[in-house]
Amino acid sequence: MLKQIKGLHHVTSLASDARANNAFFTNVLGLRRVKKTVNFDAPDVYHLYYGDETGTPGTVMTYFPFPNAARGIPGAGEVGRTAFSIPTGTSQAWIDRLTTFETAQLAQDTRFGQKRVLFDGPDGDKFALVESDDDRTPWTGNGVSAEIGIRGFHSTDMRLIDDAQSAELLKFMGYEHSETDGSILRFVVPGGNAANTIDIERVPGARHAAQGAGSVHHIAFAVENRARQLEVREALMDTGYQVTPVIDRDYFYAIYFRTPGGVLFEVATNEPGFDRDEDTAHLGEALKLPSQHEHLRARLEGYLQPIED
Ligand code: ZN
Repeated sequence: MLKQIKGLHHVTSLASDARANNAFFTNVLGLRRVKKTVNFDAPDVYHLYYGDETGTPGTVMTYFPFPNAARGIPGAGEVGRTAFSIPTGTSQAWIDRLTTFETAQLAQDTRFGQKRVLFDGPDGDKFALVESDDDRTPWTGNGVSAEIGIRGFHSTDMRLIDDAQSAELLKFMGYEHSETDGSILRFVVPGGNAANTIDIERVPGARHAAQGAGSVHHIAFAVENRARQLEVREALMDTGYQVTPVIDRDYFYAIYFRTPGGVLFEVATNEPGFDRDEDTAHLGEALKLPSQHEHLRARLEGYLQPIED
């Protein structure tokens, strides 16, 4: 069993409109845009990152906004909902705030004793705010105070027809099965960061999801550094997983592999971080391009639509 994985690093999803996406995560949810760059594999599309002040691993929601992309169709074999952590007792304040912004599909429930506020993002993306004791420091602004601010990720839900192989994989990655409630199985990684939880939702008989705007593209797990990442890569390959070579994403190093249930997993390093090419005070303001795409700057600056006024 692996000990190197410390919880979530980031979650990456697809969107249809960069402007609406940026407005939702900064103005409505009150996260900080910590990087404005492009999809390194398709540089005519933005890659936008939102998180806490510095984009601490475990707080970072990222998007590829493909203009006018068709919506995804929810189903099995994907991450069905992404959950952020909010302080205990702040659900009502968030319901009031999300109501003001006319946020879609606003609802409440309780899972494993924790109150949740459920809602959709601009592309029908499924989110939850989960009340929990979480001492991470939130980013504040846009009317979101430190008292209610999002602390980072709480968990993600993997929606699977058959949970057995994915449960086995999570355990191999260092997660422990902590609780079951009906069709929901909760896994927690001991000694992890605060984004240490993965829920599996069993959906036998469900149709497979079709990826599109509003779908989660992949979830990334955090490891401390490149040495730990290579250990994880080797262990996964020894177990029979097809894992990509290490890819330099400028702000972290990444490896990817497809899980038995269909969800794409990444393992990302906590180093070097989002402040490697910008001052902390100005993170996310300028368009940053990786060196391999710097020669496209003039064309991309003309082509990419501004995301704010
Ligand atoms: Zn990623």
